[in-house]
Amino acid sequence: MECRGVTGCNSSSSSLSDSPFDCILFDLDDTLYSSDVGIGRFLRKNIEEFLMKTCGKTAEEACALRAELFRNYGSSLTGLRALGHDIHPDDYHSYVHGRLPYDAIPSNPLLRDLLQSIPQRKIIFTNSDREHARRALERLGLVGCFDDIICFETMNPNLFSSSVSSSSSGVVLKPSIAAFEVALCISGVHPQRTLFLDDNEKNIAAGKAAGLYTTLVGKKKNPMMTSDADCVLSDILELRREMPEIWSAAGKKNPPGEMDAVFSPVEV
Ligand SMILES: [Mg+2]
Repeated sequence: MECRGVTGCNSSSSSLSDSPFDCILFDLDDTLYSSDVGIGRFLRKNIEEFLMKTCGKTAEEACALRAELFRNYGSSLTGLRALGHDIHPDDYHSYVHGRLPYDAIPSNPLLRDLLQSIPQRKIIFTNSDREHARRALERLGLVGCFDDIICFETMNPNLFSSSVSSSSSGVVLKPSIAAFEVALCISGVHPQRTLFLDDNEKNIAAGKAAGLYTTLVGKKKNPMMTSDADCVLSDILELRREMPEIWSAAGKKNPPGEMDAVFSPVEV
């Protein structure tokens, strides 16, 4: 895949109707379904069990190591590999994602209707592996709603190549700029005509730095938040009410240059 980077990507010149957006990048977990489902809790438990098995840690040590790896490296797999553990991503993902209680994720026909009404390209942009994305989207009833899935395998092709020493390859994930370069290369649109939705504030900050229009999902708007989020939704279903400009600029609440006014930063 040939990528030209965030600012120099092979952008499409076509604009979709009069909307300010040509493409929408959706995070998956805790964005298309609520964190209240509890998948994150099971994920943490599975990661700690993986650390106990792989590194010979006690339950208490594994809990501390998981938190430390997440804090220092952004993910446990990234941290383990950076520390010299030659762990194949498929082994990691099959253990920590393969045993998640997917049945807990409820079908969301309202979200399906909403997504099907959006005319722009819709792309999943997740740090999770492809099988996890497939299973979660199947449970949500959203199969066929997206034009593409950008996932762990998409961002890290070197880790799956037999011609490259996998142990020497770093891991590319949000919020790294390299992850956004991959996403923008695949979407083929200008960053400023791309809407990015995510529940993670670090990812939102990285998306903003990459030039995307950003919407933080699953959070209550709060005056102490930073200005990295152009818009804040407590639930993805608020998209139609809060961002009518997706469907038409006629429904837009602010002209392009004043979009930041949707979410007013607080001086500190
Ligand atoms: Mg998420």
